[in-house]
Amino acid sequence: MMPPAFIYSPRYAVPIGGHVFPTRKFALAAEMLQGRGAFFEPKLPSRSELLLAHTPEWTDKILGTISMTLADQTRAELPFSPEVSAAHRLAYSGTILACRRALEDGVGLHVGGGSHHAFSDHGEGFCLLNDIAGGLLKMMAEGRVRRAAVVDLDVHQGNGTAAIFRGRPEIFTFSMHQEGIYPETPEPGSLDVGLPAGCRDREYLKALEENLPRAFAAKPDLIVYQAGTDSAEDDALGGLKLTPDGLKRRDLMVREACRSFNVPAAVTLGGGYAADIRETARRHARTLLLFAGIDSSIS
Ligand SMILES: [Zn+2]
Repeated sequence: MMPPAFIYSPRYAVPIGGHVFPTRKFALAAEMLQGRGAFFEPKLPSRSELLLAHTPEWTDKILGTISMTLADQTRAELPFSPEVSAAHRLAYSGTILACRRALEDGVGLHVGGGSHHAFSDHGEGFCLLNDIAGGLLKMMAEGRVRRAAVVDLDVHQGNGTAAIFRGRPEIFTFSMHQEGIYPETPEPGSLDVGLPAGCRDREYLKALEENLPRAFAAKPDLIVYQAGTDSAEDDALGGLKLTPDGLKRRDLMVREACRSFNVPAAVTLGGGYAADIRETARRHARTLLLFAGIDSSIS
């Protein structure tokens, strides 16, 4: 068996001050995965690659050719700088690379990505560029994929992805999330399942078991899995109550569905806001190892 290929750039861990979104988690997760496989660094995407998922105006703001306003930054809940722009552009390319690896190897493992709150024309919820949309649209533009699906299990609804893919029946967007938190007005996707605060492993996994097959019934050639760990019981932003075992069984359910339907998967990290940043990183690393077929502990 080929050693796993992890896609990562050290530039993801861009300092943004005392922010609730800890970019250091990327570096910590990458550190935990050292020695478990090979690492590949994405290159900055071209303007035309950014335009696959984004409007010319937003693309130019990201590229710095027109200025990013304070209102843009407030809406994205992120400070903007050339370094932040580079980090998000690299992560956009990282998911393109993960999609490519998925089509070649069966699985693509991105130690980053999952920016599902980025819309075509603006950023939101710590997301500037929608790498999920970029990855799938790039594979479609190259004629490698005709139909695709997004399986988004972040605790927050995948509003940006749903909005970008609206009116594209060849792309099935499935989001299972907590109801009544950010985003205030969810953008309906192909299938949205809202769960109540306090939802535990059993109820969560039952809902996933019931709904996940619908994403595969859409006969995707490729899926992008947004594996946010903010549905964990101790998460600062989420109110679901998944235990470590529940998170693992969630990931296993997605992995087994990919295997049984024979669909390659590109895995992206998404959100995760445990009080202990090492715990967030550990959870993300576990997801990637599980998709690499390695069932081992990480300390
Ligand atoms: Zn989230």
